[in-house]
Amino acid sequence: MENTSFCPICKFEIQNSWFFCPNCAKELKEKVPIISISKQIFVYFVSFFFSPLGLVWGIKYARSRDRKVKIIGIIAIILNIIAIVLMIIASKNFIEQYTKTINDLVPSY
Ligand SMILES: [Zn+2]
Repeated sequence: MENTSFCPICKFEIQNSWFFCPNCAKELKEKVPIISISKQIFVYFVSFFFSPLGLVWGIKYARSRDRKVKIIGIIAIILNIIAIVLMIIASKNFIEQYTKTINDLVPSY
């Protein structure tokens, strides 16, 4: 188990439980956002149905140092990717179907 890391500013060795670097006074712990269940559902919903809008939260959360928040972000990013892939497949099918319909409608001489 790693209990120490290095200050991102001055590379001073710090304990992970510290809130400030004793060397340069850099604030080490971000204020961890508390993400309520309804907020999580909202983020996942937006990620899936309004992709790629949900990537805004996905990337923001995935970059968090808090593990729980990070996981929410990664799930949101995955949902965005799934949504994008589904959209591509759906639009491809639609275009194929559309082309076929047009071809059937236009009489060939
Ligand atoms: Zn420092």
